[in-house]
Amino acid sequence: MSESAEIYDVAIVGGGMAGLTAARALGDRRCIVLEAEDRLGGRVHSSHLSSTPLNFGAHMIGPPGSLVGNMIADLNLPARPLPKRVFGIVYEGSRHFSVPVSALPLVLRFGLRDRIAVARMGLTLLRGSRRAAAVARRVESTASGPVSDAVLRFEDGRSLSELIGPLPPRVKELLTAITERNGADPAEMSAGHALRSFASVWGKTAPGNNLVGGTSVLPAMMAARLSGEVRTGCTVTHVANKRRKGGAHVTIAYRTDEREGSIAARFCILAAPAPVTAAIAPCLPATAREALSNIRYGAFLTMAAALAPDTPVPWRNNYAILTPGRSFSVLFNHDGMVDKPESGHAVMMFRGAQGGAALLPNTDADIERAFLDDLEILFPETRGRITATRVQRWPLGVPFAEPGRARLQPGLENTPPPFALAGDYMAFPDMEAAARSGLVAAHKALRHLAKEEGA
Ligand SMILES: Cc1cc2nc3c(=O)[nH]c(=O)nc-3n(C[C@H](O)[C@H](O)[C@H](O)COP(=O)(O)OP(=O)(O)OC[C@H]3O[C@@H](n4cnc5c(N)ncnc54)[C@H](O)[C@@H]3O)c2cc1C
Repeated sequence: MSESAEIYDVAIVGGGMAGLTAARALGDRRCIVLEAEDRLGGRVHSSHLSSTPLNFGAHMIGPPGSLVGNMIADLNLPARPLPKRVFGIVYEGSRHFSVPVSALPLVLRFGLRDRIAVARMGLTLLRGSRRAAAVARRVESTASGPVSDAVLRFEDGRSLSELIGPLPPRVKELLTAITERNGADPAEMSAGHALRSFASVWGKTAPGNNLVGGTSVLPAMMAARLSGEVRTGCTVTHVANKRRKGGAHVTIAYRTDEREGSIAARFCILAAPAPVTAAIAPCLPATAREALSNIRYGAFLTMAAALAPDTPVPWRNNYAILTPGRSFSVLFNHDGMVDKPESGHAVMMFRGAQGGAALLPNTDADIERAFLDDLEILFPETRGRITATRVQRWPLGVPFAEPGRARLQPGLENTPPPFALAGDYMAFPDMEAAARSGLVAAHKALRHLAKEEGA
């Protein structure tokens, strides 16, 4: 039997959180995950360097009760809560650890005009994030759809800059650094997108946990428990809908280092990033392709570093130290992932949005030099203490909602069988959204198969 004669119940394109969650939910169905990279996890990526677990992508995991939090409990993976005081800031020569966000206007070395602007901005963000949380609470998303219309339409008509109004230059720099993790600058992202992000960080259930051993233990364990097949190093190049006697099925063409091949399946879950899905699946309805092509992504650049165990790290009781005006904009304390204390300290330096995109073309050596120079300026205690580093580029770091994003949603959600789309771009993008979209897609596949079988 030639390979293309094999018919799977479900083929899943992409082995990130969305694809793996879908595969998990398909249980004993004959299913296959095709993943382009040599590893699973996509933007969940960590590995040990000089015996320290270093993290290059997603790091904050939802608490118990969230989909991902429950998965971690089911898989018996050890998680550690983030330090209680999440934020610190190092700016213009002054260092503040364990500062409540509300006290920022008081501690920063700003003149009166800038302090008032910071206080006003903080109030707008706080009130807006409470409104965003209230909308989300009213319409808690269910497994019947990845996100509700009310959540999508919340503050979808204007940008974050328009909501906040004009800011003095230093306050604008501060806001840009704080919001870079959304993949866009304040003038590019919708106000609703930014406020949802603040709601999730300031909300009661936030900020969540780190996975001991590095975040990649999650996709590794998910894959180990799958009953279906997983192929890595397998890039899907074309997906087509073939009508046959006895029903339609999908053919999926792929390329590996050694050869080209194809498989057939009764249903296909497309769980690669939006622009990839738009390019490989011309058989999707025009509305879906148009929506996929209009999802915007922001770039991320990270550098993970290990520090000697006896380094007197000043951020011990904080998780995220904001560093506006430097080559990296946030330093994350990843000691929560370190499995053995003798392994030393783990950090991840992060740059996102336009600042990140501007740095991507530089060599690893140049990025490393710029980040380490700034690290030593801000934290002289780290001088000579770095034991390992690795730079990671994420050109498609995270999808973000620009004003008007809500209009794309019907095209994404109404893809007719035998296809379903999955990925973090279906909702506010994080691991939770990716996992939920995978679950929704798997339920759609199971319903389709049951209908075909006349159940
Ligand atoms: C630096 C960084 C920090 C982050 N921090 C957090 C955080 O703290 N908490 C959080 O919840 N989220 C965080 N995120 C976001 C989170 O990582 C993503 O929302 C989530 O992992 C996306 O999962 P996904 O399955 O939708 O997409 P992906 O992880 O991108 O998976 C898609 C998969 O498809 C594969 N693929 C692409 N093309 C093809 C093809 N042609 N054929 C086959 N396979 C293909 C890719 O290789 C990839 O494995 C972060 C992201 C980054 C980059």
